Amino acid sequence: MSTLRSIVRWVYAPFLMLGLTGAAYWVVANGHSYFWLAPLLVIAYATSFAAERIAPFYPEWNDHHDHGDTTANIWHTAIYELSALNGVLMIPLIQWMFPFQGIWPTQWPLWGQVLLAFLIADFAFMVIHWASHKIPMLWRLHAVHHGVGRLYGFNGVIRHPLHQSIDMIIGQAPLVIMGMTQDVAIVLGFLITVTLIVQHSNVEQRLGPLDGYLAIGRVHHLHHVNWGTEGDCNFGLFFSFWDRLFGTFHAKPSRPITHKDLGVDELPNFPKSYWEQLLLPFYYKPGAGEPERYRKKSAAQEAREVVEKHHPDLLHPAE
Ligand SMILES: [Zn+2]
Repeated sequence: MSTLRSIVRWVYAPFLMLGLTGAAYWVVANGHSYFWLAPLLVIAYATSFAAERIAPFYPEWNDHHDHGDTTANIWHTAIYELSALNGVLMIPLIQWMFPFQGIWPTQWPLWGQVLLAFLIADFAFMVIHWASHKIPMLWRLHAVHHGVGRLYGFNGVIRHPLHQSIDMIIGQAPLVIMGMTQDVAIVLGFLITVTLIVQHSNVEQRLGPLDGYLAIGRVHHLHHVNWGTEGDCNFGLFFSFWDRLFGTFHAKPSRPITHKDLGVDELPNFPKSYWEQLLLPFYYKPGAGEPERYRKKSAAQEAREVVEKHHPDLLHPAE
């Protein structure tokens, strides 16, 4: 088991980032239907869940029943992937509306275009992510991603759909307007999903010499802690060099992170239902404490409310 565990720790990220993305690239480069990316995505998620069982950071994060968020997260994953696909399918329409295609290097080999698109998107995502922590209106939306009390394979795609749209419009629309092709966009979208899986999965990964240069693993745990503003660092999607450049890179937390330290301090009772999470940005006011809607009542409070409703005379006897 320990041999298998150490293999998983080393091989997990390269298998997803290079192996599965390579397969997705092969599908697209050879003109096959985009449909074949769906089973590859299923393999990516299945691999993350298997790897989390074999080599977890925190076994407590693997208890799906205890966290009670599986249904909401399946909704998040389905909506996220469908919206991403929808964005890619809209590319011909966007390019028809903005007939300006003089910049994108369509003469480059496809893999070079994918790499360029990923580097630009990685920077754009980092900037949007940083802004999402600094601008209260954006933080309300982004809090849906941070409210969950654990990290695992599905977490990367837990986003408010409005926030995902902002990510796509600011992060990828400029590439589309410059003339990025649909083939490049679909491989880019696949690579971003796989990066989000690797970044958030509960797998104790070994990164070797790249440790500290990638925004995954413990570096990203620190970004998700519920210790006030201490997590306002490490905004990168895949590379950490933008954070290092802007001075927002923190390699180590001020104290060891336990399995209970994730979430948003103002939202200790983060809602479990998908629909309630969609409404959260409208109830949550950053800095104003936990919204009344999510506050857990004590048993005494609940008992008092029942009596108030059915036997008010017991609480307010006639004077
Ligand atoms: Zn964040």
